Amino acid sequence: MRHVIIIGSGPAGYTAAIYAARANLEPLVVASSVEAGGELMNTTDVENFPGFPEGIQGPELMAKMQEQAERFGAEVLYDDVVELDVDGPVKKVKLGSGAEHEAHAIVFATGSAHRKIGIDGEERLSGRGVSYCATCDGFFFRERVIAVVGGGDSAMEEATFLTKFASKVYVIHRREELRASKIMQQRAFANEKIEFVWNSEVVDILGDEAVTGIVLGSTVDGTRRVLPLDGVFVAIGNDPRTHLVHGKLDITPEGTIWVDGRSARTSVDGVFAAGDVVDPTYRQAVTAAGSGTVAALDVEHFLAALGEAGAPDATADQIEDLPGADAA
Ligand code: NAP
Repeated sequence: MRHVIIIGSGPAGYTAAIYAARANLEPLVVASSVEAGGELMNTTDVENFPGFPEGIQGPELMAKMQEQAERFGAEVLYDDVVELDVDGPVKKVKLGSGAEHEAHAIVFATGSAHRKIGIDGEERLSGRGVSYCATCDGFFFRERVIAVVGGGDSAMEEATFLTKFASKVYVIHRREELRASKIMQQRAFANEKIEFVWNSEVVDILGDEAVTGIVLGSTVDGTRRVLPLDGVFVAIGNDPRTHLVHGKLDITPEGTIWVDGRSARTSVDGVFAAGDVVDPTYRQAVTAAGSGTVAALDVEHFLAALGEAGAPDATADQIEDLPGADAA
């Protein structure tokens, strides 16, 4: 049995792994089969992670974090958790490959998933002009006209990046004020290929085999118009990825996993959570990394408390005898 299994391999997961590995806890990181490295794998320049004054490419930053965790003894598996049993002192993790792993503690750092607009054409034309990742799909839109939906940092980043390929990029925002940080706004405003379409929502995406246009609805007077274009990039935020723990851990009204104050302790003993999956507010790479640190330190304290009775190497039976074990 493992001391700790970390689920997720973004900044929170890998930072938790670095700390846990340095504490000799030999963490197992379940990194995901297709999304290993998390959201930063789809990002280009990361300019606000301290220590990189010239900026660093998202995938390179994640590779460095992984390397750092592995250097101290973390084991990384490119697999997906399909089932999680957090009842009792022995936590069980079942993977897509069929393998099962057990641990005294779990760190849940699964991040967040792209939010969808929720209109018909979006699903139907996904991968055929509708995308959620500029760095993945931007290349397909050379000299094309496209739209980015959203008014936050992600939308500004995607729109600016896409001007490398597209001949024109519309930014569709439902208000007339952006949510994005000033520096990202200024960069987008200064880009001649970007045109802002304010107070507008995408109410339909048109096209049979590929996107041919969008229907815009005014958020002011409800009027509609068609905007012909070749692609739509949706960048309207993310939702915490909690489906594996619904009904197992307490969830906040914002949809994040509930944690006890500033700790990473969830509502279940031995289960800790970190990163975007607990954070409805800040959601930065560096805050996720800090949150991963908190989780690893909390795991250490938790295991040390078990250790008074012989853990982390204690058997399941020994742990069940511990005070409070029945509360798990
Ligand atoms: P966000 O800050 O939550 O912004 C989402 C944007 O999409 C908002 O402008 C919102 O409009 C709009 N929106 C939400 N739901 C919508 C819907 N159903 N239809 C139309 N528009 C909708 O999300 P984000 O931009 O993905 O950023 C998430 C976090 O990551 C933020 O903390 C951000 O700072 C961070 N981030 C940082 C960087 C960077 O620093 N380089 C890059 C990317 C992201 P309203 O404004 O009207 O609510």
